[in-house]
Amino acid sequence: MATTQQQAPGQRHQVVVIGSGFGGLFGTKALRRSDVDVTMVAKTTHHLFQPLLYQVATGILSEGEIAPPTREVLSSQQNAQVLLGEVTDIDLEARTVTSQVLGRETVSAYDSLIVAAGAGQSYFGNDQFAEFAPGMKSIDDALELRGRIFGAFEMAELGAVRGDNVDHLLTFVVVGAGPTGVEMAGQIAELAHRTLRRDFRAINTRTARVVLVDAAPQVLPPFGEKLGAKAKAELEGLGVEVILGAMVTDVDERGIEMKFKDGRVEVINTVTKIWAAGVQASPLGKTLSEQSGAPLDRAGRISVNPDLTLPGHPEVFVVGDMIALDHLPGVAQVAIQGAKYAAKEITGRIKGEPSQPPFKYFDKGSMAIISRFRAVAMVGKLRLTGVIAWLMWLAVHLVYITGFKNRVTAVLHWFVSFLGRGRSERTTTEQQIFARSALARLKRGAADLVSDPGAYDAARQLLETTRRAELEAQAAEEARLTDAGQRGVPAAERV
Ligand SMILES: Cc1cc2nc3c(=O)[nH]c(=O)nc-3n(C[C@H](O)[C@H](O)[C@H](O)COP(=O)(O)OP(=O)(O)OC[C@H]3O[C@@H](n4cnc5c(N)ncnc54)[C@H](O)[C@@H]3O)c2cc1C
Repeated sequence: MATTQQQAPGQRHQVVVIGSGFGGLFGTKALRRSDVDVTMVAKTTHHLFQPLLYQVATGILSEGEIAPPTREVLSSQQNAQVLLGEVTDIDLEARTVTSQVLGRETVSAYDSLIVAAGAGQSYFGNDQFAEFAPGMKSIDDALELRGRIFGAFEMAELGAVRGDNVDHLLTFVVVGAGPTGVEMAGQIAELAHRTLRRDFRAINTRTARVVLVDAAPQVLPPFGEKLGAKAKAELEGLGVEVILGAMVTDVDERGIEMKFKDGRVEVINTVTKIWAAGVQASPLGKTLSEQSGAPLDRAGRISVNPDLTLPGHPEVFVVGDMIALDHLPGVAQVAIQGAKYAAKEITGRIKGEPSQPPFKYFDKGSMAIISRFRAVAMVGKLRLTGVIAWLMWLAVHLVYITGFKNRVTAVLHWFVSFLGRGRSERTTTEQQIFARSALARLKRGAADLVSDPGAYDAARQLLETTRRAELEAQAAEEARLTDAGQRGVPAAERV
């Protein structure tokens, strides 16, 4: 059953925004004063602050602090409507976007479209690794990793009580030495060496092995050699083993296999693997490419015009992690600035203003946190490390976390974790750890767990028809009794 949002004659300019991430949210907000109706279609009900996912995975922050409901964030924006749904098709000819949720289909018509569907994890053609080495792209991923990391310590304690060798349970491997991998490895080391050190009896968490692996010759390649070397030294100081120049060639439930440039092959026995290497743009890029002829790069990013429009479709803007333009990096600011640019262009066109000059990205700098009080930052020509970089990281993240309430609670949790030893969000459940694999085994995922809209409607109709027939028969019988004077107690029998 499809719900179609059709455009009525004389209706305001309709903008559909795909995605509630940095591009989607900032694009929608930038249209708040425009004479348009905005429909945001996204497959999650929240806006996710991805840079802090690793803190959810390692028990510092709660998922709510980094993923407020989009509906709440936009509640005061009267021209914005939020629809839950995974976009499965974009019809450039008909100017419609089709989305699905639990088998229910919605078709939204647009005059202008902003596509900001981001990117997912790439296993470089080895998608089978995903079952054993979750990525870090969603709240589900972060909660699953939280369950797996804390769960590994629990299983190690049990094994140690039985007298088993638990080295494979106390070994954690992070694949990918970009900012996410570095942050993750640093935090697992802090967990093992500081947070958990007094909580177990049979194991010594300080003996845990935390390994960071990358095929590149340095950590944090975009930060340059000097900052990369500094970050590596800091990580090693924390007890992280950094293995560079090693290509991960196999991953299964027991461990990982790596191949070095000289042909050497090494295996690490580990239960907990985390994949923080490689991204693949949303498959919607392919949908757009097939219809417009715009080429895709190896990571599935689509080539767009300098004004972020799709070639041959000035009404379609693509922003953020999905685009291949001038080697722009896949960072939040590219998505935010691109979305604001697209929103301004749409508003300007309605007002009949001339087009803006081509999109120009303003690089505000990059930073990566290594552990508490340690970070590296690159702002223009400035290279910062240590506490200063860490304070800068703190300030920037506080500015960009959505919502005042979330900022306050995040600061409290940072106090607990950075000044103290604790982690406020260590709750884990079986659902967190196993739900992803369980859902993947269902043919249609979660849709298999709910009734089909068609079947549900048919069943309801049948129920209604039967009930109606029953009621009509009852009414007819009442009428017959009344007409026959047989209703109630006959006068002769009354006392
Ligand atoms: C772990 C991690 C750490 C990061 N750290 C940093 C950092 O420190 N600094 C930095 O600048 N950048 C960082 N990034 C990158 C940054 O988060 C991205 O560049 C940014 O989120 C891109 O914004 P976007 O709008 O293009 O995509 P996203 O923010 O990913 O948003 C995509 C949206 O589209 C939705 N969506 C996807 N497919 C569909 C579909 N078919 N139908 C409907 N909705 C769909 C998603 O649910 C989501 O709402 C990090 C990324 C990750 C994963």
